[in-house]
Amino acid sequence: MKNYIIFKKIINKTIPADIVYQDKIVTAFKDINPQAPIHILIIPNIFIISINEINENNSYIIEHMFRISLKIAKKENISQDGYRIVINCNKNGGQEINYLHMHLLGGKKLGKIC
Ligand code: 5GP
Repeated sequence: MKNYIIFKKIINKTIPADIVYQDKIVTAFKDINPQAPIHILIIPNIFIISINEINENNSYIIEHMFRISLKIAKKENISQDGYRIVINCNKNGGQEINYLHMHLLGGKKLGKIC
């Protein structure tokens, strides 16, 4: 099974996940292996393999993913102390699941990566 199928099944609710937000464009759910007290993944409902595929026709999806991340950060009460949004891309960027996703991490002081 291609690993992106997992995220498709989470959107369709055919495998269980802790979904914290869903609308027509995105789905957000808790990461199964959290790297911080708050670790939520935000993904588009339509399949996009990586950030490399973003173009003028679908960039509204990225904008929406950011807007929803900020909304979730507020709801999770991490806005004031701060948080990190990460998009890994392909092998060197450490992308393991081949389905575009944004990590929202917070709830503790995160180690600097750059
Ligand atoms: P990547 O390394 O591709 O940027 O991030 C993939 C993320 O998906 C990882 O943080 C991993 O823990 C998470 N993940 C992988 N499989 C599942 C799953 O079945 N359910 C959930 N909720 N998260 C998953």
